[in-house]
Amino acid sequence: MAAYQAARLVKGTMGRDSDTAYLDYNATSPVLAEVADAVAESISAFGNPSSVHGLGRRARAAVETAREEVAASLSVPVSGVVFTSGGTEANALALRSLAATAGCEAVLASAIEHPSVLAHVPNDNLIPVHENGIVDVSALEEMLQARAGPVLVAVMLANNETGVVQPVAEIVKLAKTYGALVHTDAVQAFGKIDVNFADLGVDSMSLSAHKLGGLKGTGALILRDGLSIEADLPGGGQERSRRAGTENVTGIVAFGTAAGRAGDLRRDCERVRRLRDRLEAKILAAAPQARIFGRETERLDNTCCVAISGVPSETQLMRLDLAGIAVSAGSACSSGKISPSHVLQAMGVAPEIAKCAIRISMGWKSTQADVDRFLDVWTPLALNNAA
Ligand code: PLP
Repeated sequence: MAAYQAARLVKGTMGRDSDTAYLDYNATSPVLAEVADAVAESISAFGNPSSVHGLGRRARAAVETAREEVAASLSVPVSGVVFTSGGTEANALALRSLAATAGCEAVLASAIEHPSVLAHVPNDNLIPVHENGIVDVSALEEMLQARAGPVLVAVMLANNETGVVQPVAEIVKLAKTYGALVHTDAVQAFGKIDVNFADLGVDSMSLSAHKLGGLKGTGALILRDGLSIEADLPGGGQERSRRAGTENVTGIVAFGTAAGRAGDLRRDCERVRRLRDRLEAKILAAAPQARIFGRETERLDNTCCVAISGVPSETQLMRLDLAGIAVSAGSACSSGKISPSHVLQAMGVAPEIAKCAIRISMGWKSTQADVDRFLDVWTPLALNNAA
């Protein structure tokens, strides 16, 4: 990456709170400087993209440019990009509209999916995962064999809690032999690993802008060429009648700009991995009894999910927060109440350990100083309270 670009990534992002060591990039990320610039410009071009006058045409052009940027970053045709209000809506569109339009009789999903996927899948249709967090492909095959009609299989590309990367291309090959469609939630993977829609062979993919420096409330469903869906909520014919409602022009422009930076963000992940690996080495040197989940398998470079028995997640989070360090529990619901992670439990982790897990997730502004600050607070807390 050019030195200028590298400097932009570190210094040129909005939202830096100098008092906070922000280690929660899988929850959301700071807004990139280019995105902030693009947003400011887009706000002044306030037209409705469906209007035929000049302001409308300007807004339409901005939306279509963003569509090209998102499509190019995944090597897909522009016609396959359906803008949504985020990853949650994109998952719902795939699991409800795509599954229904394609005549699928059921949706099977991995047990470690994000709640926005799990909400659409009965417990009996959950595909188990191995202890290392990888989907049990043989179990999926048995589930496919037991089905008479076509199904949709949903397996995420990378898990938001552990960072474990799933063998999606292998799952696609298997699913195709049973005539199944495959949807992948690439919300966490996009901007962190190379995501090539055609190479994966999936039928649909969900993305969210705020995980890679865009704005919250924007995302996309990517559809394979030739697949159609009916809008979940009927209305105006926006997004070629696949997603009604006046487009969130500013959010879409921000998403396109962030998608254009996905390659730079990915390349910066090598630096981030070194930070993460040093962090984990220091955690294990100080507290060898700590458990780091998914460490022995392919993971996102930025994610560390660690538990120390006897120190509840809430205690860790609160102490870290008081010291100005932002991390997440393994799983937090919107009420702020922390329950043991369904992901760790699906990996066979006992609930009493799962409720002691926290997730540290880094990104382009993370520094060694952030990691050191974390260790200065976490290490004595873990050592003095561990069971
Ligand atoms: N899928 C995964 C894996 C996520 O991590 C998230 C958000 O945390 C979502 C979906 C939901 O995305 P959004 O916040 O854009 O609705």
